Amino acid sequence: MSEEAGADQGPVVPAPRRPALSPSRAGDFKQCPLLYRFRAVDRLPEQPSTAQVRGIVVHAVLEELFGLPSAERVPARAHALLAPVWARLRAEREELASLFPAGADAEDAWLATAARLIDGYFTLEDPRRLDPEARELLVETELSSGVLLRGYVDRIDVAPTGEIRVVDYKTGTAPREIGEAKALFQMKFYALVLWRLRGVVPRQLRLMYLADRQSLTYTPDEAELTRFERTLDAVWQAILRAGRTGDFRPNRSRLCDWCAHQALCPAFGGTPPEYPGWPEPDAGEETPLDRAD
Ligand code: SF4
Repeated sequence: MSEEAGADQGPVVPAPRRPALSPSRAGDFKQCPLLYRFRAVDRLPEQPSTAQVRGIVVHAVLEELFGLPSAERVPARAHALLAPVWARLRAEREELASLFPAGADAEDAWLATAARLIDGYFTLEDPRRLDPEARELLVETELSSGVLLRGYVDRIDVAPTGEIRVVDYKTGTAPREIGEAKALFQMKFYALVLWRLRGVVPRQLRLMYLADRQSLTYTPDEAELTRFERTLDAVWQAILRAGRTGDFRPNRSRLCDWCAHQALCPAFGGTPPEYPGWPEPDAGEETPLDRAD
């Protein structure tokens, strides 16, 4: 719309974002529909753990590292980014400021664990030899069924031959056998979105486990991503059905140990708040916490 037309018709209000499915929220629903409801519909606040915030900090350091000239992407430089990145994030986000009382020794010890994750990163690759096409990239596409997919990719590398590699940093402390299926689900999600956006199936999906100092690589193919697309359609239809009725059931599992909402969960003797109805405009947003697992 032109500025003139906007002036005739009053202020231009941006259109609300359509409900979308993110890998984190789809994963929540698959794990436990009630967890999805608490996060995406009730939007209950969750106090981030020190491990989650460490993940946010390490992701931000790695993002900034790739903003430096390639010759400067060395461990000492990454370590030097740590304190200023943490100070910036703490100033920007209120909920992080209360993580450590001022002057607490625990903060130094915690920053040292973040530094170890950065060291772990450097054992897995040499960033001086890489020239990522994108970092922290928001990707969004609509499937033929009308489902809108949206998420953030940590990094995309594109080879001179045009082959795409999707990279995800894992900084969490959950046992790897629990996290792996979830991580692969997330990576297939990004592979599908990039395939739809660019017309090319990414050549490789790479998960970098910084604490374990191990990488997991995976090569998707069209047939698998087509099946995965059907899975996402089914998940979204199930979410919409539950959204209409408010029937989001708890599904107790080992992952309940990481759930912030046990006190409200009937599986643990709690009572959920009254169902507020299906949210508009967006029930699929990812947060920095989602991307820091
Ligand atoms: S405690 Fe477990 S069953 Fe209950 S909402 Fe959380 S993940 Fe679901």
